[in-house]
Amino acid sequence: MIMTTSSRKTVVVVGGGIVGTMHALLAIKAGYSVTHIERDSLPQSSSVRNFGLIWVSGREAGAELEVALRARELWGEIGSEAKIGFRAQHSLTIAVNEDEFAVMHEAANMTDASARGFELLTREEIIARDPALQGSFVGGLLCTQDAAVEPPLLLGGLREFLSQSPDYQWLPNFEVVDFYHDETGNHVTDIQGNKISAQLMAICPGAAHKGFLSEFFEGAALRKVHLQMGATAPFAHPLKYSIADADSMRYYPAFKDLSLHKLGEQSEIAVRNKMQLLMVQRLDGSFTIGDTHDYVEPFNYEIQEEPYVHLKKVMDSILGTPSPAIVRRWDGVYSQSTNSDIYFRREIAPGAVVVTGGGGRGNTISPAMAEKTILDWAKL
Ligand SMILES: Cc1cc2nc3c(=O)[nH]c(=O)nc-3n(C[C@H](O)[C@H](O)[C@H](O)COP(=O)(O)OP(=O)(O)OC[C@H]3O[C@@H](n4cnc5c(N)ncnc54)[C@H](O)[C@@H]3O)c2cc1C
Repeated sequence: MIMTTSSRKTVVVVGGGIVGTMHALLAIKAGYSVTHIERDSLPQSSSVRNFGLIWVSGREAGAELEVALRARELWGEIGSEAKIGFRAQHSLTIAVNEDEFAVMHEAANMTDASARGFELLTREEIIARDPALQGSFVGGLLCTQDAAVEPPLLLGGLREFLSQSPDYQWLPNFEVVDFYHDETGNHVTDIQGNKISAQLMAICPGAAHKGFLSEFFEGAALRKVHLQMGATAPFAHPLKYSIADADSMRYYPAFKDLSLHKLGEQSEIAVRNKMQLLMVQRLDGSFTIGDTHDYVEPFNYEIQEEPYVHLKKVMDSILGTPSPAIVRRWDGVYSQSTNSDIYFRREIAPGAVVVTGGGGRGNTISPAMAEKTILDWAKL
């Protein structure tokens, strides 16, 4: 049955990042009428500061991998509808020596390797597939489930798609300072006392753990993580894959039971900054590169140079040619669940939920986070 506009249940989504926007999208698709609130004129937080990677390869075996695979499926559908620069750009984790390659060999033999689309490639196979990679590596681990979107296009592209629906309303410059529930539904207000109400509400504030939300984050197993990033000038050749170095295997839970000690010593800079190389080519040919990790607040407000020196060196060694100059630097903060929950979800009133904490894979799993909320609402 096609519902008329007036018969639709109402939803308020707070937060214009990817988690909030996915909630708005899937709520519209499910037949709700949505008001989408954002405190800034355009979202400025982690969803626009990230790599835009949809990174299934590193997900922990079991529930986390299942969520990521479901999200990857949804990304494929959404990417074919909205102009967000979605592409099934596979990833390649590069081994620069036989020891790293041996660990990747183990990864390619994990029981869920085929679900992840893992395939071990020799140096010759890599170069045959992507002649732009000419560095001093011995092989790599391909993941055919990984994909990418363009962060500068993503949120705007989704909102443009959403705005085709008469039941979607985008409300920027509205900073929520209070939430309450009564017999008429769920309500948020701004500092002037303007009120937005709906039957159902999803609050997706990213790393804004304080303010009116403090009481709802009471005892939450959440932390903030600070990262440094960069972008190069365009590279002359299109790269077929998103690239990771073997250091990434030290961090991603997918690989935690492998013989990681065989990876050998990490470089001092990488250890100091808890680094790996991730590198994704944008549609304009530039590379988005990173990243570092800092878990202790207050975070350093200064951008440090040494991580970029390290990233450039690793990039050069993989490309086999000097990589383009780094022309932009920025940092970002995400919210991360610190217990076994894949992300943070808390019902704060009937029909109202706070959803955040997707961590370094929040972009990847965002459609599945939103889908869970919509499925829960359908049961009310
Ligand atoms: C540098 C970096 C690289 C990353 N790379 C990747 C990657 O490649 N792949 C991946 O899967 N993940 C990646 N992540 C993680 C991912 O970006 C985040 O998990 C995800 O973007 C979080 O989305 P979000 O919508 O929860 O939060 P946000 O993007 O922070 O959005 C929250 C929004 O809520 C708004 N808001 C907050 N409080 C209020 C309020 N009171 N009233 C109104 N609006 C409010 C904020 O203004 C903001 O726009 C990366 C993160 C960073 C920082």
